[in-house]
Amino acid sequence: MAKLTTRTETAAPGAAAVVSADSSDFHESLPRLTKKVFTDLAIWMTGLGLLMGIVFPFFVMAFGVPSKYVLSAKFFFATIGAGLVVGATNHFLSRAVVGSRLRFMCLKMSKVESILRDTTMADDGAACTPETCMITVDSDDELGDAAASFNRLVEALAESQRASQVAGNFATTLASHLELTPLVEAALNVLHGAGDHSASALCILRDGELVTVASSGIAEPDGLADSELVERSYRTLDTVRVDLPSDIQLDGGIVQFRPRTVVAFPVHIRLVPIGVVVLASTAPIADHQDLLIQQLLPNFAVALNNALSHERLQRVAAIDSLTGLYNRRFGLERLSQEFSRSVRSGEPLGVVLFDIDHFKSVNDNYGHQVGDDVLKSIAENVKSALREGDTLMRYGGEEFLAVLPGAGETDLRTVGERMRRIVESSVVLESSSEVRVTISLGGVSFPSADVADLDDLIRKADAALYNAKTTGRNRLTLVEA
Ligand code: GH3
Ligand code: MG
Ligand code: MG
Repeated sequence: MAKLTTRTETAAPGAAAVVSADSSDFHESLPRLTKKVFTDLAIWMTGLGLLMGIVFPFFVMAFGVPSKYVLSAKFFFATIGAGLVVGATNHFLSRAVVGSRLRFMCLKMSKVESILRDTTMADDGAACTPETCMITVDSDDELGDAAASFNRLVEALAESQRASQVAGNFATTLASHLELTPLVEAALNVLHGAGDHSASALCILRDGELVTVASSGIAEPDGLADSELVERSYRTLDTVRVDLPSDIQLDGGIVQFRPRTVVAFPVHIRLVPIGVVVLASTAPIADHQDLLIQQLLPNFAVALNNALSHERLQRVAAIDSLTGLYNRRFGLERLSQEFSRSVRSGEPLGVVLFDIDHFKSVNDNYGHQVGDDVLKSIAENVKSALREGDTLMRYGGEEFLAVLPGAGETDLRTVGERMRRIVESSVVLESSSEVRVTISLGGVSFPSADVADLDDLIRKADAALYNAKTTGRNRLTLVEA
């Protein structure tokens, strides 16, 4: 895409300030004679020359020159001729001095016009540089003012073209992402570049509190969501600008430094807030840059809202509503990914399948509601016994599967025992009685056990669980290498 790149050129010193004017402000100082300004000028100058020729003999008589020398046909014709020569010379000089500048201005206008047309019609038109499109302001008069006005017009066109390019890029970016994280990262990238900002972040409301979901260049992005700036913008739906903020630092790689300006833009749909975009700059931010960002935000709000709805739907589709764990479908997808990763990297992968012992009797003795409470309590307790990065899913009614990346046989034994003990030692209170349950577990670690594929891995864990059940329950059985 072609770009109109601009440089601000100020008028020559002393040039008159240009004020805005419309056509009704324009007044002719002399009546128009023809359709051509320079022909009018030639007629006025020739007329002036003739007048000078007629008046001059009487003028010199006033200075005491005798009339016999002056009031002769020869003298009349000589002075009229001189007047005509001065008029014609004036005309040619004005064409050379003023006309050449006007022609140059026309040339530049044609150049800008063809660049604008190329840029509109094609993606790769030529660039408009200050050298090609702008005019040097070198006179302190109306021509200098016209050149300065022309340069400002080129700048305004460049600015508007850049704004429409940014809007186009932004629309494409928003349309090409549905998932929250890539959408927000790509959108911030465009917003970041739109106003030459040094850092950016997005905070949204999640589970009742503002959190930073993406950031670039901000030193402590997590704390940003708690800042007064973000909170105020979210609450009032106002764009809040702070010059030299004291509580926001930018990440300069080795050092942290204070930005010059930070602006918080509210993101909302029909006045319902959904987040705040924060843009920080090391230089003062011009008002028109703020306006450009504000124009882009309504579309971003819609895309962000869609991504959040998509995320919520995915969550609903992936999570078991009773226990809050991954459900079987989503959990097995995770297991499949971990298994492929393990096959590629050679890193071990452990799985533990477990089932509540005599769970039927819990339901029979205390009712289904208590059975549900026991399921919830086991999910919570076992999850607390796992490491970050491990996945626990509800595999069936009262069966669970733990996926333990990196767990070899020894780890499997340790983690499995920890899971067994934590369930054995916990109680669910039901009225006045305590409900205690145990679990039986079957574990297998890839690649130490002879596992053919993913199905075989689960089959082997199931067989180990069956073994634990048949050999006394409340125990862990591992598939031996
Ligand atoms: P075992 O030690 O052999 O596993 O005995 P068990 O009684 O646990 O075995 P069984 O598979 O026969 O019983 C499982 C019970 O789990 C039957 C079913 O009613 C109950 N169950 C499955 N899903 C739920 C649930 O979501 N809530 C409740 N309350 N019970 C459930
Ligand atoms: Mg069962
Ligand atoms: Mg059972």
